[in-house]
Amino acid sequence: MPRTVITGGSGFLGSHLCDLFLEKGHEVICIDNLLTGNTDNIAHHAGKDNFTFIHHDVTNYIYIEGPVDNILHFASPASPTDYLKYPIQTLKVGSLGTHKALGLAKAKGARFLIASTSEVYGDPLIHPQREDYWGNVNPVGHRGCYDEAKRFAEAMTMAYHRHHGIQTRIVRIFNTYGPRMRLDDGRALPNFLHQALHGQDITVYGDGSQTRSFCFVKDTARGIAALLESDENMPVNVGNPVEITIAEFAKEVVKLTGSRSKITFQPLPEGYGDDPKIRKPDITRAREILGWEPQVERRDGLLKTIQYFKEQLGQV
Ligand code: UDP
Repeated sequence: MPRTVITGGSGFLGSHLCDLFLEKGHEVICIDNLLTGNTDNIAHHAGKDNFTFIHHDVTNYIYIEGPVDNILHFASPASPTDYLKYPIQTLKVGSLGTHKALGLAKAKGARFLIASTSEVYGDPLIHPQREDYWGNVNPVGHRGCYDEAKRFAEAMTMAYHRHHGIQTRIVRIFNTYGPRMRLDDGRALPNFLHQALHGQDITVYGDGSQTRSFCFVKDTARGIAALLESDENMPVNVGNPVEITIAEFAKEVVKLTGSRSKITFQPLPEGYGDDPKIRKPDITRAREILGWEPQVERRDGLLKTIQYFKEQLGQV
């Protein structure tokens, strides 16, 4: 049975990865300091022989007894509101945490996968974003703590690959949504859903012409597993290439929830000055190398997410 360590395993995406690797027959060791993660996301695995939860901050030395086959480093705040609130923890987990997780990979001879992000492209000057684009990031802007931590994490990962011969994988994850997103994580979808389900005004920031491309979490998790299982050391984008403006997205949420909420346009909050204006992955590499592409239509994914939010809010 392969042993797989998932840092950040009780977060939104990390917990779906725990589910997926358990389904694949792995033993899963989930490590999380619960800064933005929540054990509710993994409670359904409590008591299983092949699942362990370790409450630990991976910026400190990571001790795991016995062999380890795979390490997926997913620990990090990931929503702009969270990393604006925890800039130093974000920088530390992307830098020191990546170093510790790579050190564990080296000690165990394990395969290592780093969760990178479309934020490494910053406010992109090419569209859609391909992996060979180096990005347009402001290191001293408010988002710099996340973007630069992830860029450093990629560089560190490549150094361990080239210098120590570690088998490494780099996934650049684009906007992902689905059940277990925190209702208060401050991202567009949780905000819009929360507002729609309470009949409050929907807060579109700016004029709403900025675009994003939303991928359902099960698709994202499948893409990540396919990358881990491949031989590809260079970065691969995983995301859904169907692009939508945030204003259109808000309308879609209102329609699908059957809400009477009004859409309002608000100034960008403090710290959103570097908000990327456009974002859409080029997934040619994922298609060709991994044979992966998203399968869940946005409408279906949104309906599942709405159901989850309603349950959390006690509306069903
Ligand atoms: N956004 C918005 N209203 C909100 C929250 C976010 O209009 O209540 C916008 C935000 O400015 C950005 C887009 O929605 O342009 C996506 O933001 P999100 O926080 O979901 O993640 P990002 O893609 O920026 O990391």
